[in-house]
Amino acid sequence: MSQAAVAMPAAAAAPRRKVTRGTVVIAADRCKGCELCIPACPPGVLSMSKTGNHLGYLYPELAPGCTGCTACQQVCPDFVFEVWRYQEPIVEEDTAP
Ligand code: SF4
Ligand code: SF4
Repeated sequence: MSQAAVAMPAAAAAPRRKVTRGTVVIAADRCKGCELCIPACPPGVLSMSKTGNHLGYLYPELAPGCTGCTACQQVCPDFVFEVWRYQEPIVEEDTAP
């Protein structure tokens, strides 16, 4: 018995959404630029700034998608982060390519 290849219909692209469940207040003036917080953030929504603070150190900046997990707060040796969790998540369409 021959097996004919059956073309499966392409799955419709599901709309991607960005869910933000919390936020952080970043005291950039206390940051020493060690970058420990960057890989510690599970959703990867922290990245280092392009310009330095008053001491010349780059500091983290927040993109949408924070979960409020507090990992950045726990790893930072300089108490830069204050973490807040929203009562209701903010849901946005993710238009990134
Ligand atoms: S862990 Fe703290 S001190 Fe280090 S880069 Fe992040 S915010 Fe700055
Ligand atoms: S609270 Fe969690 S998700 Fe939000 S920036 Fe810090 S490590 Fe990332």
